[in-house]
Amino acid sequence: MRLDKFICKSTELRKDAATQYIHAGKVSVNGEVVTNESVQVHENNTVLLNGDRLKARDFRYILLHKPINTVCSNIDEAYPSLFNYLQVERVSELHIAGRLDADTTGLVLITDDGRWSFDITRPCNGCRKVYRVGLSKALSHEQAEEVAERFLEGIKLQGETQLTLPAMLEVIAPNEVRLTITEGKFHQVKRMFAAVQNRVAWLHREQIGDVCLDVESEQWRYLTQKEVASFH
Ligand code: URA
Repeated sequence: MRLDKFICKSTELRKDAATQYIHAGKVSVNGEVVTNESVQVHENNTVLLNGDRLKARDFRYILLHKPINTVCSNIDEAYPSLFNYLQVERVSELHIAGRLDADTTGLVLITDDGRWSFDITRPCNGCRKVYRVGLSKALSHEQAEEVAERFLEGIKLQGETQLTLPAMLEVIAPNEVRLTITEGKFHQVKRMFAAVQNRVAWLHREQIGDVCLDVESEQWRYLTQKEVASFH
């Protein structure tokens, strides 16, 4: 693979930062300083960055169907950690790209690639998250239209100064909707419905970006290469 890609894969550096190190003469391959980022390197080459040996590793990208009453933390808290459902090595190196509340179910993405999860979670990336929402108060047709309009315009959540980014509401039944948001503020969906005098009775994440939940509760699978690349 190219030298800049090798550096990105074995560190947390982005491509432009990796290239800067290469151009600055800080990278050597098998004992020779290399200043061309497109040079091909192999996994068994000795690549040093600032004198430290880099080792290319394969990142892991996992989709898991979170059951209710589990926490998105690496350790058991008031509820068991959802990492208990993963039968993989080096679980402590994994983290979640976009946490869910203990009482929320559905799609969770798990990885050991910090740059990838950063791309998914930073709000300016506009990555869609799709939730099915059960509401404690049924919405009439007119009320649903009004809420949809307010969510599309953006609403002010308690304790926030900026409006939420445009969100899309689709009615499934009087007390069940589908909501698509592109940010991930703390308890965002629950706070959005609280702001329109309703309450979330249950919450389930169906989709992140183009990746849809397609395994049963408590089950997991690795993402395909295409799914991994879809977030860049
Ligand atoms: N919004 C919430 O309020 N809770 C979640 O778990 C996810 C989004």
